[in-house]
Amino acid sequence: MHSETEQRRNPASEMMSYGYRPDWSEGSIKPPVFMTSTFVFGSAAEGKRFFEVAYGLREPDDGEETGLIYSRLNNPSIEILENRLCRWEQAEQGLSFSSGMSAITTTMLTHLRPGDVLLHSAPLYGGTDHIVNVTLPEFGIITVPIDDFLTKPGLTETEIKQRLQISTQGRRVKMIYLETPANPTNSLRDISAARRLAESLTVADDNRPLVVVDNTFLGPIWQKPLDHGADISIYSATKHMGGHGDLIAGAAVGTREALEPVAAMRTFLGTMLDPHTAWLLTRSLETLNLRMHRATQNAEALATMLIEHPVVQGVRYLGLIAEDDPEYELYRRQCLGPGSMIAVYFKDEAEAFCFIDALDMIRLAVSLGGTESLVEHPATMTHAGVDPAENLEHGVTEGLVRLSIGVEHIDDLVTDISNALDAVAGLAN
Ligand code: PLP
Repeated sequence: MHSETEQRRNPASEMMSYGYRPDWSEGSIKPPVFMTSTFVFGSAAEGKRFFEVAYGLREPDDGEETGLIYSRLNNPSIEILENRLCRWEQAEQGLSFSSGMSAITTTMLTHLRPGDVLLHSAPLYGGTDHIVNVTLPEFGIITVPIDDFLTKPGLTETEIKQRLQISTQGRRVKMIYLETPANPTNSLRDISAARRLAESLTVADDNRPLVVVDNTFLGPIWQKPLDHGADISIYSATKHMGGHGDLIAGAAVGTREALEPVAAMRTFLGTMLDPHTAWLLTRSLETLNLRMHRATQNAEALATMLIEHPVVQGVRYLGLIAEDDPEYELYRRQCLGPGSMIAVYFKDEAEAFCFIDALDMIRLAVSLGGTESLVEHPATMTHAGVDPAENLEHGVTEGLVRLSIGVEHIDDLVTDISNALDAVAGLAN
């Protein structure tokens, strides 16, 4: 499918051609959309062989790939995309899904059973928060926030284990789930610390808890969780990967051991991506590196401008973490760049709303990571369903505004944001 030399190229170059040969499709330089629900078998025996491998009834022979059966199981447009998704993190396996939420839920429903424990970071994206704090407990899964354990300096491994023993009622931890940087505050969580914790929680006759990281905010250009010990990197591919505000999709890349059962569950839940969206996403991946670099360049300039304005009470942007801040070491170790998400703190909701409504080019909409800059108010929008006390505890205040910076010309972004800040200053006077 791909030559050895092709495998050694940078992922930014591989996105143009990896895993596809023009002679498969009349010389077409780009893969067509395989818009089909099902595939014709050459013979009954071939159909039988394909199902045996797909359903795990026998091990594939040497070099035997799973044959094409039905687009809920596999489809060339989806396979080309998934092979390319793997390249960004040198992952063994990649899966695509109908949304970021279906990537998250399919992964959780594969690896968690009633009575198991899920340890998770907080804050989480509002949809994930609902699954973790409402849906999973309804299925008898114990969900425990662990920020305290991961971020409090000076706790020994034994102390951490003792605390966990109490909060997990002695039940088996099966998964550690981190969202880092967290939506919407950009707070960082230490992936390698989570991996060490997972290893220390492994009992001799048991499997190690899986480390799963939602890498939507920075990845895969500015953070590669698999390099830091994660088993699975999860993405809302709706965001940077799709990048044009025109599709909903999800992705997970990681080890074969962690993802093969997720692929099987996806077949039975039917949470796969459709061929047309897979094709759109494949096309978007060609410019992912360019888009994320340009958006980050814009965001760096804007964050510096925002923090200097008197009406702004604070800015959480990874590029602004000071060298003497304890978080700086983690940022340098784990992240490859600051990304394009900015959390801006105003005094209260009135000032936040004034800023949002005064923006002209930057549109008010939830979502992020697109070519166009967007603004939203997490406390009343993406995180409206989260317990208000929890929101406050995690810095999701009424004055918080989330900016997703796009690839527009920096001068226009500066003008738009300056005008909106002046409007807030006018409100205060
Ligand atoms: N994870 C994060 C960090 C998100 O911001 C979102 C959506 O905003 C999701 C997951 C869910 O993704 P989707 O909307 O593609 O289902």
